[in-house]
Amino acid sequence: MLRRLVYILVAIGFVGLTQACTSEEQPIVEEDLITEDEETSEGEFAGDEMPSVDESVEVEESQSIDLEEYNREAQQWGENVDGVKTRIDTEEKKMALTFDACGGQYGNGYDQELISFLEEEQIPATLFINQRWIEEQSELFLELAENPLFQIENHGTAHVPLSVNGGAAWGIEATQSPEEVKAEVLGNHERVLELTGRKMSLFRSGTAFYDEVAVELVNALGYEVVNFDILGDAGATYTAKQVESALLGSENGAIALLHMNQPESGTAAGVKTAVPKLREQGYQFVRLDGEKLE
Ligand SMILES: [Zn+2]
Repeated sequence: MLRRLVYILVAIGFVGLTQACTSEEQPIVEEDLITEDEETSEGEFAGDEMPSVDESVEVEESQSIDLEEYNREAQQWGENVDGVKTRIDTEEKKMALTFDACGGQYGNGYDQELISFLEEEQIPATLFINQRWIEEQSELFLELAENPLFQIENHGTAHVPLSVNGGAAWGIEATQSPEEVKAEVLGNHERVLELTGRKMSLFRSGTAFYDEVAVELVNALGYEVVNFDILGDAGATYTAKQVESALLGSENGAIALLHMNQPESGTAAGVKTAVPKLREQGYQFVRLDGEKLE
C-alpha cells in the first residue's frame, strides 16, 4: 500500500501540474469547458451514501498514458472518423436503441413517457448520459443506473465535440488538446464510478463529432467510441412519424441514436409506434454490453 502511495506521488510530481488534475474529482480543464448554464454543485452527492472508490487505481491507470503521443495534427473530422463504431457486428436480427441525455440549459429534461414505455415493454436500451444531466437529475440517474434494463454509458463531462486540435460542430467548440479530451472523458467517468461503483466503457461525445486522434486517445483510456447508423430523431427534432420511419429503416445490427431528455419531442411517440412493428419483423432489442461492435 505504501509503495503504491509513493508511486502515485512520484507519478503526479513527474507529469507536472497540467496532468495532475486527473487525480482530482473535477478535472481542472473542465472548468474551462463548462458554460454559464451549468449549475454543477460539487457537494450535491456528498455524504455517507457514496460507495468508496479506490481512486489510487484510477490514478495509476490514467497516468500511464503518454498524452504527448496524441499531440499531433488530426486528419479527419466528423461523426464517422476512423475508430468510431456504428453497428453491432452480427448476422442475427437484433438491434440497439441508444438514448442520449445531453444536459445543459436546454437539455436537462426527462422523457418519462419514453422510459415508462421501455420499462412496460421490457425493451433493453443503452443510455449515454452527460455529467450535466446527472448533476441536474441526480435521483432519476440513480434509479436508471439501478435498473437492469438499462446500460449507462458516457456522454461526456461538458458535452463538447472531441478533438486534439480544436474545431467546432453545431456551433459548439471542441476540446483543443489531448489533456482536454482526457478530461472530457474521465470527468464523467469518475463521477459515475463514484455514484454507482461502475466503470463505463463506451463513449459518445456531445454532438457525436470527433477527430481520429481523439478517438485513439479515448481507446487508450479504455473506451470504445460508439456512434450510430440510424439517425433516430435528429437531435430530438423529428416528428413522431419521422422517428418511426427512421427506426423502420433498421437492418441487422443497427444502432439507433435517439434522445431521452426532450419530452416535448416526437421521440417517445415515434418509438412507441416503431417498436411493435420492428418486433413483428422479428427484431430483438439488445443493450450494447456483450455485443461485438464494428
Ligand atoms: Zn448529446
